Amino acid sequence: MWYEEIYYTRRFRTCGEHIMKLSEKAEEILEALWIAVEEEGQGFAELERIGVAADDPAYRELTKLAFIEIKEDRVYFRPEGREEGQSTIRRHRLAERLMMDVLNIRGESGDNKACQLEHILNEGVDTRVCAMLNHPVTCPHGKPIPPGDCCVEAKQSCDLGVLPLTELKSGEEGTIAYIQTDDNKKMQKMVAMGLLPGNPVRLLQTFPSYIFKIGYSEFAIDANMAKEIFINPLPGKPV
Ligand SMILES: [Zn+2]
Ligand SMILES: [Zn+2]
Repeated sequence: MWYEEIYYTRRFRTCGEHIMKLSEKAEEILEALWIAVEEEGQGFAELERIGVAADDPAYRELTKLAFIEIKEDRVYFRPEGREEGQSTIRRHRLAERLMMDVLNIRGESGDNKACQLEHILNEGVDTRVCAMLNHPVTCPHGKPIPPGDCCVEAKQSCDLGVLPLTELKSGEEGTIAYIQTDDNKKMQKMVAMGLLPGNPVRLLQTFPSYIFKIGYSEFAIDANMAKEIFINPLPGKPV
């Protein structure tokens, strides 16, 4: 299964030939430490504020990898741990965005599922999710998402990422990225039109309604529906 592969390739090389995978608790510790150090400007996090019991073996896991250092009741980052903390928090917040923006799962259940999802968003997958979400800079709670290489590159190349259909000009084309609607009936309707991820679509007209072509069929929809259809535009396609 693809997710198993992804999960199990999330490993670390330690000094020997051993390969280790970080436990979920260890990732939680890195996230809490990242927030204390990078966002709250403290040089460390107090053990009791981390939210993982002080006797949890995850601390030992991280000190063995030289990711953190514990002095008295304070936890400090080592440089490599800081880097890992950054990518862990990035995956967490991307998972939150994915939950809310694409899957429309909100509130507490979204938070819990985001926690599970972040562990399978390793490098590579997080880049694809990030591009699909158009390199978001904040999570749904307004917290910053540390940029990845993909975000920097997208900025440099003016890659537009995913856009709602309403942002396209007539004549422009692309492929469907995803549909975002709370309304199941509407979703069914859109799926029946062939609005499925990966399908090529061409916008023919934007006023008075949005007319697009998918396969050999043309459909007219209103702006409210057009806003819920997200497109990967084809780069540099002339009108
Ligand atoms: Zn958040
Ligand atoms: Zn990105």
